[in-house]
Amino acid sequence: MMEKPEELKLLDEKGYRIDGRKKYELRKIDMKIGVLKNANGSAYVEWGKNKILAAVYGPREIHPKHLQRSDRAILRVRYNMAPFSVEERKKPGPDRRSVEISKVIRGALEPALILELFPRTSIDVFIEVLQADAGTRVAGIVAASLALADAGIPMKDLVSACAAGKIEDELVLDLNKEEDNYGSADVPVAIMPIKNDITLLQMDGYLTKEEFLEAVKLAIKGAKAVYQKQREALKEKYLNIISEEE
Ligand code: UDP
Repeated sequence: MMEKPEELKLLDEKGYRIDGRKKYELRKIDMKIGVLKNANGSAYVEWGKNKILAAVYGPREIHPKHLQRSDRAILRVRYNMAPFSVEERKKPGPDRRSVEISKVIRGALEPALILELFPRTSIDVFIEVLQADAGTRVAGIVAASLALADAGIPMKDLVSACAAGKIEDELVLDLNKEEDNYGSADVPVAIMPIKNDITLLQMDGYLTKEEFLEAVKLAIKGAKAVYQKQREALKEKYLNIISEEE
């Protein structure tokens, strides 16, 4: 989050945001499932200007072997930003931010998976950000969750996610890059809707306690809308397969 230039208005007099959205409106989201031939499961998500690919491998033999658990599979997650995904070229390879995001995404996905079914194996999730425009961790969770379902990994529920935040003294849903840079807070949330569980909750910036609770509620509403889209995307793929077989 950066100091906002005086002349930049993130909300106009009519309450519209710089990309034309209303306060509680999501960016456009498109999801495609099964886009990579060599992965066990995969998904591609375009969320506003974010472009994110997720690939799942496993359950498979673990290397190095000492990580093996005799009672369950281990889940490994790598979130990576392509060097060309941001305005200023990102140095390739892991950095503090991507290590942290990989860790919180792992934590967001793990409660949904039934890892005890696959002892001594690993399930590996790769999230590649091809184009970034804020909200890549929530879009990454959404893509990864679809890829896990596509890989046929037994899950208690899909994990969905969305962020809410604060710009110009107002709470808004799903910040874009300018809003993330010049707004005053960002609250990414991931949920498992069936169990009413929150599996990721972070906050960057400043909010009062009341605003924070409102922002969480708003992000959950957003994530529930995204969840419906995830279900539709999965149904679309598998209904197509069934109709092709007939
Ligand atoms: N960003 C960037 N360069 C970087 C890291 C981030 O330009 O090295 C941008 C990118 O658009 C990203 C946004 O800043 O989506 C917000 O990053 P943040 O760490 O808040 O995570 P995100 O909102 O993507 O989950």
